[in-house]
Amino acid sequence: MERKKEILELKEKKKAIILAHNYQISEIQEIADFVGDSLELAKKASELKNFKVIIFCGVKFMAETAKILSPEKKVIIPEIDAGCPLADMADYKSVIEMKKKYPDAWVISYVNTNADVKAITDVCCTSGNAEKVVRNVPAKKIIFLPDKNLSWYVKQKVPEKEIIPWNGYCYVHKKFKVEEVKRAKEKYSDAEIIVHPECDPEIQQLADGIYSTSGMLKKVKISNSKRFIIGTEEGLIYRLKKENPEKEFYSLGFPKICYDMKKITLEKVKRALKEEKYEIILEEEIIEKARKSLERMLQYV
Ligand code: SF4
Repeated sequence: MERKKEILELKEKKKAIILAHNYQISEIQEIADFVGDSLELAKKASELKNFKVIIFCGVKFMAETAKILSPEKKVIIPEIDAGCPLADMADYKSVIEMKKKYPDAWVISYVNTNADVKAITDVCCTSGNAEKVVRNVPAKKIIFLPDKNLSWYVKQKVPEKEIIPWNGYCYVHKKFKVEEVKRAKEKYSDAEIIVHPECDPEIQQLADGIYSTSGMLKKVKISNSKRFIIGTEEGLIYRLKKENPEKEFYSLGFPKICYDMKKITLEKVKRALKEEKYEIILEEEIIEKARKSLERMLQYV
C-alpha cells in the first residue's frame, strides 16, 4: 500500500505516465494509467500531451516503439534486461542478408522486432492486422519477420502471396501442446478455445478462434459463451476476468509465463520514477526510419 502511494506521488511529481502491457503482473496492471498491447500503448503515449516521462512496463522492443512514436518524451523501462527472445531472433545483419537474397521482396515486420530491424523494414504489422497488411501491400513476395507461426497463420489467409517466413518463434506460445487442447475440449466441452497466432499451427488448427490479445478482449465481450480457454501468456487472464466478471476463464493447460514480462516489479517501477532508469536512447536516424515503417502500416489496414 505504502509503495503504491509512493509510486503515485512520484508519478505526479515527475509528470509521468505508466503504461503496462497485458502480460504484466496484476500489481503493475493495477497502478498503470493504461493497459494494452504494445502498439496501442505506444499510440496512446504519442497522443497524450501533458506529461514528459513514460514509464513503460513491458519488454524492450515495446519501450522502443513508444520512443519511436514519441521521440520528444523520455521513455523509461524499469528493467533493462526485460527483452523479447522472439524479437532478438531477427537481428539486423541477418535481415540485411535476407533482403539481398530476395531483392524484389518487401520486408513486413511484426511489431515484435527491435528498432534497428524496424528501420530496415518496409511495413510493420501487429498480430491483429498482419493479414490485412500482407493482403494490401503492393508486393507479391514478402519476407515476414520474425515469427514463423504468425507467418503460417497469414499464409492460410492470404495464399496468393509468396511469404518467406523467418525462422523465429515465441518460447512462451511454443509451450502449448496438442494434448492440452484435447484435454481442455473434454473437460470444458461448452467453452470456446481461443489462441494467439504465435502458437504452433497444430494448436491454431484445433482452436475455435485465433486472435491477438486485443482481439481476444474484443471477442470475449461480444461472444455468447460463458466459458473460455485462453491460449496466450497468463497475464491476459487477469484483465479478461476483471473486464468480464460474469464469464469464466481457464488457462489452456498449465499457465504459460513470459519471464521477461515478469521482470518488472513495483519496486523497479518506483526506482524507474526516482532515478529515471533505464532510459531508452535511439539514434535519430533509426527513429526516423522505424517511424516510417510503423506509419506505413496505417496505409494498408
Ligand atoms: S510472450 Fe513471447 S513474444 Fe511476447 S514478449 Fe514474451 S517472448 Fe516476446
